[in-house]
Amino acid sequence: MGCQLSSTVAPCNVFESPEPVTKVFKPLDKPLVDSKPDNNNNAVISLQKSLKHRYKSRKASLVSYTSITSILPPKWPEKDTMCTLRGFSIDTSRAKSNSSVVSMCAQRLEMDEFPEGRSDGKPCNIYWHNIVYHDLKSVVKTAEARVNKFPGMTELAKKISLTQAIHSMQQLFPDEFRFYPKSWIIPAQLAEFQHYCKGLSEKSWFIVKPDEGSQGAGIYLINSPDQLQNTSDRHLIQEYVSDPFLLPDQLKFDFRVYAVIKSLNPLSIYVAREGMARFCTEKYEKPTGLNFENLFSHLTNYSLNKSNNSYIHSTTLRDQLKGSKRLLSTVFHQMEARGVRTRRLWHEIKLIIVKTTLAMIPEVMLNYEHYFRDVPGPQCFQIMGFDIIVRKDCMPLLLEVNSAPSLTIEHSGFAETDLTPVRSLVDELIKVPLVRDSMLLVLNKLDENNGARIIANADTLSWESSSINEQRTNHIAEDDLGMIRRKKKAHLSEIFPGRYGQQSKHLLFLDRAVYLFMQFINVKQSILITMGSLKSFIKKCNLSDVITNDELEKKFNQIYFYFTSKESQPSSGLPFHGFLQLLFHFSRLKFPEGESLLDSLQRLLAFCDAALRHYGVRSTRLRRTEIEMDQNTNSVEIYLLPSRMRQHKASATSTRSHFKSPAYMRRSAIRNSRSVPRMQQPQPFKGITNNSNSYSNMVDSTANNLMNGTSSTLPRISVHN
Ligand code: ADP
Repeated sequence: MGCQLSSTVAPCNVFESPEPVTKVFKPLDKPLVDSKPDNNNNAVISLQKSLKHRYKSRKASLVSYTSITSILPPKWPEKDTMCTLRGFSIDTSRAKSNSSVVSMCAQRLEMDEFPEGRSDGKPCNIYWHNIVYHDLKSVVKTAEARVNKFPGMTELAKKISLTQAIHSMQQLFPDEFRFYPKSWIIPAQLAEFQHYCKGLSEKSWFIVKPDEGSQGAGIYLINSPDQLQNTSDRHLIQEYVSDPFLLPDQLKFDFRVYAVIKSLNPLSIYVAREGMARFCTEKYEKPTGLNFENLFSHLTNYSLNKSNNSYIHSTTLRDQLKGSKRLLSTVFHQMEARGVRTRRLWHEIKLIIVKTTLAMIPEVMLNYEHYFRDVPGPQCFQIMGFDIIVRKDCMPLLLEVNSAPSLTIEHSGFAETDLTPVRSLVDELIKVPLVRDSMLLVLNKLDENNGARIIANADTLSWESSSINEQRTNHIAEDDLGMIRRKKKAHLSEIFPGRYGQQSKHLLFLDRAVYLFMQFINVKQSILITMGSLKSFIKKCNLSDVITNDELEKKFNQIYFYFTSKESQPSSGLPFHGFLQLLFHFSRLKFPEGESLLDSLQRLLAFCDAALRHYGVRSTRLRRTEIEMDQNTNSVEIYLLPSRMRQHKASATSTRSHFKSPAYMRRSAIRNSRSVPRMQQPQPFKGITNNSNSYSNMVDSTANNLMNGTSSTLPRISVHN
């Protein structure tokens, strides 16, 4: 049965939240799948054994388990190894669709849960929200609190914003961002897309996705620009990955991998070891004029495929070996049995997550500074879902990022009319440990209870490059899965700055441009740069010789259209990546001798820095702060918003004071002995009336002065060295 193409494929109303589920890898003590593909019994028994000692009994669910699964329902760790967050509180009044898993974890961790919010006026340690609420600031009032959403992340993870962020990085680091399919934003790049298609020697297939879409809604395939159903609404066109890796069942699948951005200050990213593989329900064949409308064989979305009779729900672990939703680790073993080097694949996937997050970080910083402009701001963290497809040649590619991956652990009944929620084993095995470890992680409790710190240290890449360290690094990369199998590890493992910091530190580069951008916007009011501010930027940075006002306006309008698909108005402003496109343009004009765009841009940024010093802006002093944490591992903490550093350090200390682990005491001793922070905070300008000496205020004042043309009289920022 085929699912016919429709531009309004309605998202089926299931238990998935608007964003679909993510995937993660959680290796097991023994392989799930035997080298003989059909001998699944051993795999199930292995899985049973590995789970058995990890969990203890839990209430029976609505699922009627078979004799196999009767010993399998996910259970909590034995008491002696069990971790608690006793004495910590969580507000779940806005967890909504996340409630069941979040409450379950909070209860098991013995937290004080406030499902209706706290009535005594005291703050909670964690606030769990299902979306980013506009009144976040008034709900979470203390810098000590952790809240599971970053302001602005919903927008930043949308298909078009993500494409724009990755596009900027592709221009700077072309070799390192090949993991994202070639994409065009419609209507702005329609002509470019048409031109591209004309140049193709043979017809290729493309996938068209509405920007706001989720669960596969409104998606269709085309092989010619004429087939576009709508050229005026904002859409993304992407090269269709027509040669996916297939298992013997010939069903297309992709992975949902979960990552957690633990904090911005310091920047810290973790990946979850277990994830999900979502399978189509009809056999895959390369798209042709005859089959391209059969979405059951081209899209993996649960909400779409569950309506097909061929959908295989898994009530047991045996089922999931052939199910439409499998554990990522199961599929890795199935791939391994077919010769795929899954260690390598997992390594590549983790790098995709680090690179993609680093591409998004500049705007996350800006949104944070804008949103919490007048308050200390809590520590935000966020569980993200990365959708990854693997090509036939085993290369993983990123398809999209979900800022709110479904955390539901139930699905609807199997009969079409049965809407009773049924516990989903696969979802539980992935999401319960994910949420539990996220709670432990953000309260700095993860390392103490799961031995994750010991392992993470062993895994952590040296920040300093040396031949010995590189050898060690390569060895660890090779042995990653082996180590996970042998040792009990937390569900989450650090991938930045630990593990992949060394390989990717050069990609954390655009924060330099963010600091420049922040000096010419009024971050309190907006995170867009207007034409007036751009003119001021050109003047203050001595760039008047590279572009005339007319040329600037033309370029501005062109970039504005690319970002918004609208004609610009006098009050219009460009977002950060629009400003960056202008910087690219200026750097090519100003430094044409640069070996690459990156080289020219680096020269331009240095040039702007030097020019702005004349006006009292010593932006090098405002930048990222890096602190070495441990001499043995050379691990580094990177603070992207220096002025926020002190408050977060204070909050981390107060949180940690509940349980000072030996590791923490050791790190703390190292810190104190180095009189951290080494880079002291710049002082506010004299004459600023606002009491706060936050970085934003200081930059705002600078920006206002620069924009008002009064900057030549500004005092220099005094910096303590
Ligand atoms: P949505 O947010 O609506 O789920 P996605 O971008 O995740 O949109 O796409 C839905 C599904 O379409 C994916 O799960 C994947 O199976 C398929 N898909 C998306 N992009 C591509 C692509 N470039 N090549 C091949 N398949 C794709």
